[in-house]
Formats: sequence, C-alpha cells, structure tokens
Amino acid sequence: MNDTDVVVVGAGFAGLTVARELRRRGVSVLVLEARDRIGGRTWTDNRLGRPLEMGGTWVHWTQPHIWSEITRYDLEITRSPVPQRAFWHAGGRVHEGSPDELFGLLDPGMTAMLADTREWFDRPYEPFLRADCHALDGRTVLDRIGALDLPADERELLEGMWALNFNAPPEVAGLTQALRWCSAASGSWQLLFESCATYKLKDGTTALASAIAADAGADIRFGTVVAAVDQDADGATVTAESGETFRASQVVVTLPLSVLGAIRFEPGLPAHARQASQGLKTWIAVRGEVEPFVVMGGKDLPLTFAQTEYTGDGNTILVGFGPEAARLRPDDVDAVAKAFALWRPDLEVLEVAGHDWVADRFSGETWPMLRPGQLRRLQALQQPHGRVHLAGSDYATGWAGFIDGAVESGLRTARRLLDH
Ligand SMILES: Cc1cc2nc3c(=O)[nH]c(=O)nc-3n(C[C@H](O)[C@H](O)[C@H](O)COP(=O)(O)OP(=O)(O)OC[C@H]3O[C@@H](n4cnc5c(N)ncnc54)[C@H](O)[C@@H]3O)c2cc1C
Repeated sequence: MNDTDVVVVGAGFAGLTVARELRRRGVSVLVLEARDRIGGRTWTDNRLGRPLEMGGTWVHWTQPHIWSEITRYDLEITRSPVPQRAFWHAGGRVHEGSPDELFGLLDPGMTAMLADTREWFDRPYEPFLRADCHALDGRTVLDRIGALDLPADERELLEGMWALNFNAPPEVAGLTQALRWCSAASGSWQLLFESCATYKLKDGTTALASAIAADAGADIRFGTVVAAVDQDADGATVTAESGETFRASQVVVTLPLSVLGAIRFEPGLPAHARQASQGLKTWIAVRGEVEPFVVMGGKDLPLTFAQTEYTGDGNTILVGFGPEAARLRPDDVDAVAKAFALWRPDLEVLEVAGHDWVADRFSGETWPMLRPGQLRRLQALQQPHGRVHLAGSDYATGWAGFIDGAVESGLRTARRLLDH
C-alpha cells in the first residue's frame, strides 16, 4: 500500500500538467502510467530515418494553453512546407491544380456549414452558455452537409474534409464538436485549418512533455496498468492489474473516453461511450525530392488527405490520414501505397510508418472528437465524482481534441484540487 495526496492515472499532457501544478504547491503526487514512456497520444519516435510524430503534432498561437507552455519552456516552432500543387479526387477522377483552387472548392461549403458557429458557441470556453445548445447535439456533420445546396464535387470534398477533421466517417461526427472547433478559431474555417496542420514543435512534442515532466519532478511508475478505483469515506484505493494498490486522498484519471471503461470505478461514473475518432495517421516515404503538394478526396476513400512534410536525401516524406484504421493499417506499406496511388501513381512509395492508436488498448481512439449526443454527457463528466476527477483532452472545454485541450483540462483539474 502506497500513500500519497493525489494519484494521477496517465502521463500524457493532462496528467503531466496536473502533476506539475500540484507538486509546485507542495502536494504529493504519484503518477501511474501503463506505457513505458510519457506523452500518451503524443510520441516523437525515430522512423523512416528521422524523428516523426506518431500522434499529436501541430500547435498554434490560437491555442492559448499549449502556446503558453511553448513560451514557458522557450521551445522553437517550425512550419510544415507550403504545398505548391494540389491533387483532388472528385466525381470519379483526379484533378490537378493549385492549392488555392482546391481550397476555393472547399470554401463555399465550409463557410455555409459553419455560418452559425458564433450564434451557438460564441465563447469557446463556455460551450454551455446557450442552454439550448443541446438541441444541436443529436445532429451529425453529415446531416448538416446534406442540407447544403452544393455541386457534387464540392460536397464530396467537403465530406472528405470533415472525415479528415474527425479522423472518422462524418456519419458519426457530432455537429457541435465541429462548431466548437470553429468557435475556438473565432469562426474562421481558414484559421481553423491553419491551426490544425501548419506549425509544429521543432524538437518534437516529446521535448515539451519531457520539460513538463522534469518540472513536475513527480514519481512516475511506468508499466502500471490501473484496473480499479474504489472510494471510501477516508480516501480512494487505486488497484493496478498486477494487484499492487495505492492509497490517495484524490485521484485524477486521464484515460481517453474510448478506454475509460477498462477501469472499474466504485461508485461508478456517469454514462460514457467511445469517441468518434477511429482513423489513422500514416507517414509515407516516396522516392525523389518532389515539390511540396497536398492530396484530398471524399469520405469513402481509405486515405482522404496527405501533405508533404519533409524533403531531403533524395526522398520526400508525407503525412496522410484516413477515417478508418480498421480498413487501412497505418504501417501496411502495400495497402497505403495502393491508397496513395489514386492521386500520384507516378511516385514510388518506399516505406510507411504509423501507430494504430485505435487498436492500442491505452488509447482506443486518435484525437478525441465527440459523437452526436456526447456534448450533453461531457458536462456531467467534467464534474468531480467524489474523490475522482477526469482530466484530459477528451474532457476539455475549448480546443477539445487537441494537446491544448489536455493542458487546459489539466490546469483546471489541478486548480480544483488545490481549492479543495
Ligand atoms: C494520430 C494523432 C494525431 C493528432 N494530431 C494532433 C495535432 O496535430 N495537434 C494537437 O493538438 N493534437 C493532436 N492530437 C491529439 C492529442 O495528441 C491529444 O488530444 C492529447 O495528446 C491527449 O492528451 P491526454 O493527456 O488528454 O491523453 P493521453 O495522451 O491519451 O494520455 C492518457 C495516458 O493514460 C495512459 N493510460 C491509459 N490507460 C491506462 C491505465 N489503465 N492505467 C494507467 N495509464 C493508462 C495512456 O498510456 C496515456 O499515457 C492527435 C492525436 C493522435 C492520436
């Protein structure tokens, strides 16, 4: 039996933030992490001959919590290459043009679809400001797109764009999540797109996670898979799969929603369900130093988007996304090469790399995106459950789904515990 003030389950950005904030105020903290590394769904790993982000990557100054961390640790930012050419699949064939032409095709649909963003979610950090926001909660992104009067090619690309944003088929994508994202970018879809896929940490996300962990100086037990959290009148007992138990006054749990059910809670938590995201991120190395380009296509393709990230040493490395990891494994070179050849049959795929976060028992999803009906449940999950507190990007208010959301939620949870 190990005694501590607070046990934090998970050493991703949320868990590390909570640990740092509490330790700075003299609270004793023990972090229990199932994996053998920090960072959770962010992971800078050496693949294809260079450090590559297997999970979360891009950050932006519109994201206040992560940007403040970047300032605090004096980290450098770098930019993804600006694409010079665009290839898009619509109406059964591939078109080639400038990125401006492609984004011009997306603009009418994106603008119409997000037009009422600020009416519903004027303040991104107060999503429940309009009490009737739940009226929208049952709707999908696909419902909204279906109601727009768009030419077929534009509709197809718009659906592909939202399959990309949700890393999931838009049939299961909650409309409120789309509007909340756009609200966080002050209602501009272009700024939203820039925030999602343009600027990244020069030394990788692991460098930032390591800086927070070092600052926290908390004891992190790796390889400790938590199986149960039982509360009683005096505290809480956290039990690992190994049978080891840890006693604490309060427990912070940062598990993604899609795997939260793996822990038995007594008393139980409010109803919760898997997130929408079920897709893949894959890194694709092709032969030759090719002018930076972007490819895009409709929601039913195994890959819906890819863009150039690195060029050098005779090769080009792209990052690609698809809506269903069950259909396309991110490390299956033949299948990824076949999907990518739709746009660029002229390029030879040499290698691919990726981590299947959906099959991973400690994540079960990629970036957290709500399904229809889940916003209502979010409000309940954000409250304390006796001595148990849920923190993480899945439970964030503003940039939910992003690293920023994990830091925001970690800060809020730590504040609440300190007040307590
Ligand atoms: C492919 C991909 C691309 C992404 N792209 C971006 C992006 O470009 N920009 C961006 O801002 N965000 C992006 N994200 C999202 C971002 O990475 C996450 O929102 C954020 O890292 C989540 O942090 P977290 O601390 O809330 O959760 P996690 O990082 O998931 O941390 C939870 C921790 O709990 C641990 N855990 C799970 N189960 C147990 C258990 N039973 N016992 C003990 N420990 C357990 C996990 O191992 C993990 O370390 C992406 C994510 C993915 C997967």
